[in-house]
Amino acid sequence: MMALYGKKDQEEHDTLDPIFGSLSEEQDLPKYQLNETPVEPRIAYQVIKDQLLDEGNARLNLATFCQTYMEPEATKLMSETLEKNAIDKSEYPRTAEIENRCVNMIASLWHASPDESYLGTSTVGSSEACMLGGMAMKFAWRNRAEKLGLDIKAKKPNLVISSGYQICWKKFCTYWDIEMRTVPMDMQHQSLDMERVMDYVDEYTIGIVGIMGITYTGRYDDIKKLDALVEEYNKHTDYKVYIHVDAASGGLYTPFMEPDIEWDFKLKNVVSINASGHKYGLVYPGIGWVLWRDKSFLPEELIFKVSYLGGEIPTMAINFSRSASQIIGQYYNFVRYGYKGFHEIHKRTHDVAVYLAKEIEKLGLFEIINDGSQLPIVCYKQKNGIKCKWTLYDLADRLAMTGWQVPAYPLPANLEDVEVQRIVVRGDFGMGMAHDFIEDLKRAIKQLNDAHLLFHKEKENKKYGFTH
Ligand SMILES: *Cc1c(COP(=O)(O)O)cnc(C)c1O
Repeated sequence: MMALYGKKDQEEHDTLDPIFGSLSEEQDLPKYQLNETPVEPRIAYQVIKDQLLDEGNARLNLATFCQTYMEPEATKLMSETLEKNAIDKSEYPRTAEIENRCVNMIASLWHASPDESYLGTSTVGSSEACMLGGMAMKFAWRNRAEKLGLDIKAKKPNLVISSGYQICWKKFCTYWDIEMRTVPMDMQHQSLDMERVMDYVDEYTIGIVGIMGITYTGRYDDIKKLDALVEEYNKHTDYKVYIHVDAASGGLYTPFMEPDIEWDFKLKNVVSINASGHKYGLVYPGIGWVLWRDKSFLPEELIFKVSYLGGEIPTMAINFSRSASQIIGQYYNFVRYGYKGFHEIHKRTHDVAVYLAKEIEKLGLFEIINDGSQLPIVCYKQKNGIKCKWTLYDLADRLAMTGWQVPAYPLPANLEDVEVQRIVVRGDFGMGMAHDFIEDLKRAIKQLNDAHLLFHKEKENKKYGFTH
């Protein structure tokens, strides 16, 4: 998420000091104002590169789902296409065709029926994709409700989702003035609670969001069950509800790893799905995808036409101009890996996650909440009743000393007493690295056990949520 910056954020030392002997060496560069005169490209490059030096190694960042490695050929192709503007369909018709191919490939992965008119688009990420999915749900609901004669001003429309939602849904509901109805999770229901979800639905419900999988733990909502509940509900009302699946991470993972799970357009009431191309689609940020099973679920009012080869092409987006290089990067991965290649990469990732979960469990100190057997996310908490002076936050700090970034945080509402640590395994995290990590983890624990200085209370209450 982009921060909002201002005067208050200026550092006291407000100049940059070029190094490595050069004419410009004499001259300090202001940090918060434009420099009067240009500097040589070499100087500009070095000064900026140096500032980024201590930012942490992205591949040791086990906190993020976002891709941290692409092949040199992919990177080359992407840097050679940075200037292409994805919205200029007329100027870049081949690029538009590449986006079209990607949408169709994803539609087939998600079992969109050729008998329906499915539609989809690339986005900046899942956040924009969810925003578009949510808007379509809102407008489609309003059109249906108005036809049925519902007083749509009498109450705010609402969206039903589990309390394990990613922050983009909060944004969507805030920006579009929608009541967010969150179904609480507890230790027994660590995903959308199927016994209670339909209690939250009424005539003002624009849709239900299922999550494949929950950002904080990696767990999947049971979309098949949800579809059955919705089917039953819709039999008894004119006010139909439908499902959007937020498959930010699962959307480009599950089809390759567990093709037998039914969660996508195979299910009748799933009308739209989003995924992040920059998570298990293996592209650098930012790219996402959103698809609708049929154009009837994407109201016309939301579609804007741009010119395309003398005619027009429908588009749906929040942004206008952006580089097409990420789309081209996604296409590269599809062409390069094919179905089998994606399967093999994800299988290795899966094996690493399962290995890590087993090794961490063996330490005897942690209870595993997600064991990597579905999404390759390992999530654990400290075991109850184990006497330990240190917390998961201390462990995170210790691991940071060896370069590993592993976040600790409390779970969402109703589970906020449970503090967890989460490791997101990605394609570039090999078994060798996993062995090294376990060694460093053991050493960190030993150091914490042997340490005799503790500066904080036994329990720390940090802010919940780690959102990417
Ligand atoms: C990461 C994530 C998002 C947001 O995705 P971006 O691609 O980072 O915008 C939305 N929903 C879920 C479930 C996620 O895991």
